[in-house]
Amino acid sequence: MKLLKGGKSDPAGTPLLLEPDYRVSYENVTVTDRQLHKLKAALDTAPDMAKYARYRTWLYYANLKRWQGQGYHFHYESGPGSTSCTCGLTLHSHGSGNQDIAVVISKAVAKKLEAIDLQDLQTIRQHRNLPTLQGISVALIVGFIWREELNSYLWTAICQQCGACEIEIFNVEAQDFVKIHNKVCGALIGEGGE
Ligand SMILES: [Zn+2]
Ligand SMILES: [Zn+2]
Repeated sequence: MKLLKGGKSDPAGTPLLLEPDYRVSYENVTVTDRQLHKLKAALDTAPDMAKYARYRTWLYYANLKRWQGQGYHFHYESGPGSTSCTCGLTLHSHGSGNQDIAVVISKAVAKKLEAIDLQDLQTIRQHRNLPTLQGISVALIVGFIWREELNSYLWTAICQQCGACEIEIFNVEAQDFVKIHNKVCGALIGEGGE
């Protein structure tokens, strides 16, 4: 977690503000069924030369929608000096003054989660809920692994507020984890728990 530099630390668990240049904004990452159908139709009718490019475009949005439905937050796109999450949260390393300052998980929480290889973006606290793209989610699904013997993906979920985590659980369980921590730990935000 190389972002944890400078910043104001607090052993009691205050989230760290990143250096002022690190800012966040939200991209519109809504993918509608209508858009997907259009992209699929464009693919199906494409001349051979254009098929691959249109396939890539369709796949990009189809994957994005699938990940949003699975509640999976991760760094899926990079721009100049920025990285974006499936929920639209975008971290800018040289942001502008009208954007919010990026806030990372506290040192105490980072310590509890140190066994999990979190992406920088996954340590930022201002993620939207998936798949609604509304509000703030303090708990995130941050990774998965394919388990052949179960014929299923298993997921890792974390809470940025209390530092709890679950590793290799079914998606439905991971989504329940997120719901519970948003309800319990999400309520602490703004009540001095921050
Ligand atoms: Zn996110
Ligand atoms: Zn929690």
